[in-house]
Amino acid sequence: MNVNQSAPPVPPFGQPQPVYPGYHQSGYGGQPGSTAPPTSYGAYNGPVPGYQQTPPPGVSRAPPSSEAPPASTAQAPCGQAAYGQFGQGDVQNGPSSTVQMQRFPGSQPFGSVPLAPVVSQPAVLQPFGPPPTSAQVTAQLAGMQISGAVAPALPPVGLGYALPPGSQMTGPPGPPPPMHSSQQPGYQLQQNGSFGPARGPQPNYGSPYPGASTFGSQPGPPQPLPPKRLDPDAIPSPQLNELPPQQKTRHRIDPDAIPSPIQVIEDDRNNRGSEPFVTGVRGQVPPLVTTNFLVKDQGNASPRYIRCTSYNIPCTSDMAKQAQVPLAAVIKPLARLPPEEASPYVVDHGESGPLRCNRCKAYMCPFMQFIEGGRRFQCCFCSCINDVPPQYFQHLDHTGKRVDAYDRPELSLGSYEFLATVDYCKNNKFPSPPAFIFMIDVSYNAIRSGLVRLLCEELKSLLDFLPREGGAEESAIRVGFVTYNKVLHFYNVKSSLAQPQMMVVSDVADMFVPLLDGFLVNVSESRAVITSLLDQIPEMFADTRETETVFAPVIQAGMEALKAAECAGKLFLFHTSLPIAEAPGKLKNRDDRKLINTDKEKTLFQPQTGAYQTLAKECVAQGCCVDLFLFPNQYVDVATLSVVPQLTGGSVYKYACFQVENDQERFLSDLRRDVQKVVGFDAVMRVRTSTGIRAVDFFGAFYMSNTTDVELAGLDGDKTVTVEFKHDDRLNEESGALLQCALLYTSCAGQRRLRIHNLALNCCTQLADLYRNCETDTLINYMAKFAYRGVLNSPVKTVRDTLITQCAQILACYRKNCASPSSAGQLILPECMKLLPVYLNCVLKSDVLQPGAEVTTDDRAYVRQLVTSMDVAETNVFFYPRLLPLTKSPIESATEPPAVRASEERLSNGDIYLLENGLNLFLWVGASVQQGVVQSLFSVSSFSQITSGLSVLPVLDNPLSKKVRGLIDSLRAQRSRYMKLIVVKQEDKLEMLFKHFLVEDKSLSGGASYVDFLCHMHKEIRQLLS
Ligand SMILES: [Zn+2]
Repeated sequence: MNVNQSAPPVPPFGQPQPVYPGYHQSGYGGQPGSTAPPTSYGAYNGPVPGYQQTPPPGVSRAPPSSEAPPASTAQAPCGQAAYGQFGQGDVQNGPSSTVQMQRFPGSQPFGSVPLAPVVSQPAVLQPFGPPPTSAQVTAQLAGMQISGAVAPALPPVGLGYALPPGSQMTGPPGPPPPMHSSQQPGYQLQQNGSFGPARGPQPNYGSPYPGASTFGSQPGPPQPLPPKRLDPDAIPSPQLNELPPQQKTRHRIDPDAIPSPIQVIEDDRNNRGSEPFVTGVRGQVPPLVTTNFLVKDQGNASPRYIRCTSYNIPCTSDMAKQAQVPLAAVIKPLARLPPEEASPYVVDHGESGPLRCNRCKAYMCPFMQFIEGGRRFQCCFCSCINDVPPQYFQHLDHTGKRVDAYDRPELSLGSYEFLATVDYCKNNKFPSPPAFIFMIDVSYNAIRSGLVRLLCEELKSLLDFLPREGGAEESAIRVGFVTYNKVLHFYNVKSSLAQPQMMVVSDVADMFVPLLDGFLVNVSESRAVITSLLDQIPEMFADTRETETVFAPVIQAGMEALKAAECAGKLFLFHTSLPIAEAPGKLKNRDDRKLINTDKEKTLFQPQTGAYQTLAKECVAQGCCVDLFLFPNQYVDVATLSVVPQLTGGSVYKYACFQVENDQERFLSDLRRDVQKVVGFDAVMRVRTSTGIRAVDFFGAFYMSNTTDVELAGLDGDKTVTVEFKHDDRLNEESGALLQCALLYTSCAGQRRLRIHNLALNCCTQLADLYRNCETDTLINYMAKFAYRGVLNSPVKTVRDTLITQCAQILACYRKNCASPSSAGQLILPECMKLLPVYLNCVLKSDVLQPGAEVTTDDRAYVRQLVTSMDVAETNVFFYPRLLPLTKSPIESATEPPAVRASEERLSNGDIYLLENGLNLFLWVGASVQQGVVQSLFSVSSFSQITSGLSVLPVLDNPLSKKVRGLIDSLRAQRSRYMKLIVVKQEDKLEMLFKHFLVEDKSLSGGASYVDFLCHMHKEIRQLLS
């Protein structure tokens, strides 16, 4: 049972609780005072006898899970299988950006580098290895030392990669290097989970590098050689005369000798995909986002909610500055969980509300220390000693733990929810259920493309699937409808009416809502009138000649309607064109590609007027979230139109050159998902930290009116907030560092709740510990968001250079302080960061930072804002797409085929491949593919008869066709946006689009190949070290 079922009553509406500061106080609510009325608490593992009161009106106690309503796909009319996220036009404009995580089985290989015992970690045996350790990747870069003798001499050698200093790498191919050290006999699983002999980070490193003395580890006894990650003999080098003759034949770097994303993903899958990730141990690095794993909450938040750039952070800011590794957490407070994992329990503390620290307002959590026999507790964040309210008192066991610790989610779990009291509500009133307002552009373009008819038809059935909570029979969400072009039309759809009534507001400069009663209605009560309205709208405007639209007044109207109804909610805007009609927020076409690569390029990403920020601020204050569906035929200034969605926690979808026949499935699929997804409204998020660090910067779709509170008019399960931390004091290894993310929000049913996520991290005095507990995917997520925000204020080139410099500094610091001595010609990468160069290169050559000729300004603005709220899995596949060969594995195999590296070299012209990045989906057909395969998939007899650009595969009754279509469905199901399929034939014109996503290759827009970038990075590192 869950707590909800046995929850005590909440205070009646409006009952003032003087001891609690209200909603507007700093901190989300008040702190419970010692005078709080005694309350009993239901244990989450069972109802407490005696609590049978029914909740007060308006407060429904839903089950802890807030599952999405049944997918409408089954009911909604579906089109053919394949409409991707992007129309072909979009693709031509370049890759776009969203990606949902793919869960590859895989994991990071555990470092081959012998690791030192990590004393600061709790001595709890982890189920699997800790973080990928700091195995190093050694590469001999060009010009340098090539001989294989070098690497083995280094104790903690990771992978060796030789890159000619000059850059062009030459060298023998050599056998593919073993990527794993696990075969190395004799290394025990370390306490921290890493493999390798126990020793200090750099035990053998007798003499620290100048300037690094602070961080050097103690020299230890000589250690056995670590497993070689790469055979140095296989490393190409320019000094050909040193090589055996047979090695001189190759004149480029062997791509197999540089770190492979595919290998890292596969290894993590194999190593970490089979066991659940148990969160009881502080500072554990979770499996990669590409690994499919289950999570058991034993006191720290699941990595589905929080991922960090490092799980072991430097004790001092000097160390942090030296390493340059950003300390950041990517937080997805309302992340959806797989069915096997339970949603957070909802704890109800009745009228007294959640227990908090009196000083810092942190919420009760497993890390609070109970003392004095349980009568007081010491805050784990600020050390303040607090009294335990009598009703919360419990005895301690001999270890000092409360005897009821495991009966209370807030004392034993990393994530849980509290029912909020009225003090956490606006104006000290419990909220009304939210409303959805559908605002439909009915100008000429919208009518002509068939959009309006399609949308109205879809809404008739979709309205049955508004988000519900728990077992609620119907959604509490009310709906309203507006259509618009240069003027706005409001509709009265009150259930008592025989027909809907339209009210026109033509004074868009001073928007008001012409009706209150009958505008927002319950779907089931007003169904007949709503259906009638949706039938009539396409007819009413069928002959429209109006091409001009307004935009800001539409949002203003929706927001005013919510304000009048005193509720939060979401506006769904369906819009087609640049709003040039005379009205507030009127825009002009200011697209100018000539600005690219100039100092003024940043203006392309900035809104052209401040009016939208002002509007967004008002929306946030009202809890009005805006989701924008764009259907542009030309430039619409996405940078400006997306301001309000961005600042209100909303989403933007773009369907360039929308045509019903080509794009309906993609649009409807996105719409259904968007309308049905569970959303928290009128939310405020605060991240508290233990003494020594604090949150200093935030990235995502939200608004901030002060430096600590992230305000989200709406927050759904796809959105993340990336938070950066900085030191403000010294941390200590023993106590570690704590994060607590508290999200106050209104549920779909109108219930006010607090969701709490806690995470404990380790702290280190040795840089090596930092480097072996990093997560590169999260680092890339942070760096991409940092860079994508940077383009608003700095020239793109500056942003790119900053990223490169930071990456070089990170790697140089490792080399200087953590790696064993070796020749400067070797590129040595920390095991956990060996993919940093390849992934960073993908960010650098992405359309926002290095656009190709075919990428439009709107596409860049669109991608920029998409990436801003992506989670780690989404950025991972977005920047490094997944390329799956289809005919290599047996047809019977039920699992996804293993991916190959995103490079043209990996394509065989006798095979077929799927490529996806979360937004785009291609099926590439090699020119020499067997005729039988062509027949089975396309129902034509030869390669030449395959239609290039096809977006739907024929439904054929044979194993290959079923397998490929099944795989496409499965890929789509993993992503938050529908990916439209595009069939590309080898050597065909469309292949250019496809090749844009082969990110290890040199790009047409000038982006470096992986190999070239690695050489460049090595050069940068050497410069920093010299
Ligand atoms: Zn405190």
